[in-house]
Amino acid sequence: MREYDAVYLGGQWRPVRDAQVLEVENPATEEVIGKVPLASAAETAVAVSVARRALDGWSGTPIEERLAHLSRLHAALATRHEEMTRTIVAEVGAPVSFARTAQVGAPLALVASYLEVLREFAFTERVGAGMVVKEPLGVVGAITPGNYPLFQAIANGIPALAAGCTVVLKPAETAPLSAFLLAEAADEAGLPPGVFNVVPGLGTTAGEALVTHPDVDVVSLTGSTRTGRRVSELAAGTIKKVITKLGGKSANVLLQDADLKRAVTEGVASAFANSAQTCTAWTRMLVHTSHFDEVVELAAEAADSYTVGDPTCEETSLGPLLCAAQRRRVLGCIAEGLDDGARLVAGGTERPDGLEVGYYVRPTVFADVRPDMLIARQEIFGPVLSILPYTDEEEAIRIANDSVYGLSGAVWSADPERAMAFARRLQVGQVQINGAQTDLLIPFGGRKQSGNGLELGRYGLEKFLQAKAIHA
Ligand code: NAD
Repeated sequence: MREYDAVYLGGQWRPVRDAQVLEVENPATEEVIGKVPLASAAETAVAVSVARRALDGWSGTPIEERLAHLSRLHAALATRHEEMTRTIVAEVGAPVSFARTAQVGAPLALVASYLEVLREFAFTERVGAGMVVKEPLGVVGAITPGNYPLFQAIANGIPALAAGCTVVLKPAETAPLSAFLLAEAADEAGLPPGVFNVVPGLGTTAGEALVTHPDVDVVSLTGSTRTGRRVSELAAGTIKKVITKLGGKSANVLLQDADLKRAVTEGVASAFANSAQTCTAWTRMLVHTSHFDEVVELAAEAADSYTVGDPTCEETSLGPLLCAAQRRRVLGCIAEGLDDGARLVAGGTERPDGLEVGYYVRPTVFADVRPDMLIARQEIFGPVLSILPYTDEEEAIRIANDSVYGLSGAVWSADPERAMAFARRLQVGQVQINGAQTDLLIPFGGRKQSGNGLELGRYGLEKFLQAKAIHA
């Protein structure tokens, strides 16, 4: 059991008197595994004021010094790799082998990539007859989701710190423990007091207090589109910059000449990664009618091959969902898919065999899904894959782009030019062709209701900077 009675503010663990306590649940066992204090709006305002006081010093720190601080933070995180893995397995329910790499290894690599970007970045450039200096935007309120808690804390926090901003992080209620480990690492790294602060709290109290505070210059939110809407409305009162990275319903398009076996195996893996609690999950598979039956069979086989269960076992490939409410929502979507007449070919609403406790859902695949069905439109955030038929590429493009979201997508074809032409027509932030690896220096972001913020590489850094023109 991890119990905390303090929040990390101004370089100190500050006890929160009479705080409401948030019990953190292990979604696999439904047992309480941690307790953290819920910061009130007043506590959050204290965090903002210490971050504001630290801003002048931190933003004026020479880059070499900032790099040294962040390198020490990277080292302090690296020594906690296994501890963070265990914590995330317990609070998120992510299978341990996945957690070690995607939930902890990836954020460590992300810190390293931002160090590289910071080393090379030109904060001053000559443009025409003038000069442009890029200055930190100020105090950043970082609000993060529970599905990849460490990755998102790093993705929102580290580029802000690298830019010279100070940060108040509000982690998700569902998975706040890894933020405490991050604060411990920041403390060990000796970041100057107030530069990085953590206020665990509810979205409606601590979150809204950050968003509406006049001394917060930027809100950097990763979360659902619903929260993005609310946060944008609230932030309008102080005209602050709002960076949003929101939901998705990504299409995985198998063109007629695709390597079907590979496209389906990797497509199902993307759809179900982290129990499908992944913003970029390819949850709509678009398949030409000539291959439809073959693909449905392959996808059902792939889904049935998942080992669902205890996330602490190295062999487990699908853990539980984050919380009871999320499980209820996902089961509701599966029921709606059945009511709408989609054909269930794997999974369903019953509990997986032998798992009477925990927020588990069977890996579920629907065939004969129409674009107007809820399971084709809504971000379900649970292991539910919808397979939709198309008759030609024009129809495939129409279906793929017929979404309020525009986060990510995939195309498979034996012909690289055909795949590239199709990828360019997708209205999304990123496309993977034939399962290509992603790169931490290439921008990641969304379009439409998937948000406006870019992450990774110099794009991730630049969004925390303001260009100032100097004419001399
Ligand atoms: P959520 O929107 O419920 O919560 C996200 C964060 O916002 C939490 O910290 C929450 O406390 C806070 N919040 C909620 N209401 C708030 C309010 N009124 N004011 C201020 N803060 C508030 O999302 P979640 O369930 O934790 O995460 C899942 C969502 O995040 C999915 O939609 C997923 O696609 C999205 N996501 C997007 C990306 C991306 O990069 N685009 C990455 C990860 C997750």
